[in-house]
Amino acid sequence: MIYLDNSATTRPAPEVVQAVTQVLTEDFGNPSALYRVGLDAEKILKAAREEVAKSLECKPAEVTFTSCGTESNNTVLKGVWKSRKRQGKRIITTSVEHPAILRVCEELERDGADVVYLPVNADGSFNMDAFDAALNSDTILVSVMYVNNESGAVMPIKELAAKVHAQGNGCLMHTDAVQAYGKLNCSVKELGVDFLSLSGHKVHGPKGVGALYIRSGIHIPAFLLGGGQEAAFRSGTENMPGIAGLGAAAKLLNANWKNNAAKMAETRAYLKERILAEIPDVKINSPENAAPSVLNVSFIGCRAEVLLHQLEGDEIYISTGSACSSKKKGSHVLTAMHLRPEEIEGAIRFSFCADNTKEQMDTVVEKLKFYTSSQRRLRKAFHK
Ligand code: PLP
Repeated sequence: MIYLDNSATTRPAPEVVQAVTQVLTEDFGNPSALYRVGLDAEKILKAAREEVAKSLECKPAEVTFTSCGTESNNTVLKGVWKSRKRQGKRIITTSVEHPAILRVCEELERDGADVVYLPVNADGSFNMDAFDAALNSDTILVSVMYVNNESGAVMPIKELAAKVHAQGNGCLMHTDAVQAYGKLNCSVKELGVDFLSLSGHKVHGPKGVGALYIRSGIHIPAFLLGGGQEAAFRSGTENMPGIAGLGAAAKLLNANWKNNAAKMAETRAYLKERILAEIPDVKINSPENAAPSVLNVSFIGCRAEVLLHQLEGDEIYISTGSACSSKKKGSHVLTAMHLRPEEIEGAIRFSFCADNTKEQMDTVVEKLKFYTSSQRRLRKAFHK
């Protein structure tokens, strides 16, 4: 199998499987319990929080475990709106965010928020002029993704956080770092953000677990009320298998992320080069500054969905868009980048992890050459 859909989800690392299994079979206690099995679970919880905090260069107390990246994003947007809507109505985001931001913004708009959806440049990169024009004293939150899940565009989070805080009106800065975590530097000290969302299953951790960084001193309302877990901010008995797995993934990432990112960058560059050199009528949709994990390419005159299934026949897995939108028609990201309909129709996202190799890319290119030329030939014959 050649798995190139790592932005949709990743294969759990053996260390993650081990940590999850340990919690499911041996250390199954409730971390709130006062006896030994409970205390053991509490230790696992603490260790996992410390690993995630280390990966973000923050204090463990600033890390809240959630059920996913989606929950982390919902918590920030709804929490900031609820607690600050009397101070200002404007929320600034981009038109290329994940639906876990966009759908929430739409709900907040129905409650009176003035949401600005910034356009992006034609290559998917951040449009700073539009941002500068939108940021005003009425802005309470800026939420911009760190890496776009379809184009791989890296957004200038550090610069944005500096501008947001220079406003001096208490405006807060959130980044959805789900696609950046493990690929780029996610030190919150470095970035200067107030909130950061991440997700376990994008970094070889389990599904159904995420985390949210909230800078100490910032208070937003609790998302789930109940037994008071997660410092009463996110009640519910902790998802210990998930949290232990995320802790194990964060530990691996703390040791290896730079090497892993360099490997991904190399594989990506190799695939890009070979595609450009050997397959005609292609367009690279990812910007020059894209993350090492994503390469978006249009094979003009081909239907990406057909290519996906042809490659599937060879056990090569790619995506026609983000996992959540691939079952829907079109892509809001590629549309926002003003791609022509035929470019959108032929767009494929390759997304990498450190396990992908150049040999795998050789196979992928050979298959792509065959399937793109046969599709194009068939189409031409049909339209004669
Ligand atoms: N944000 C981005 C940028 C994503 O790519 C995803 C998932 O694809 C999410 C949020 C949602 O994360 P989760 O699947 O953990 O809810």
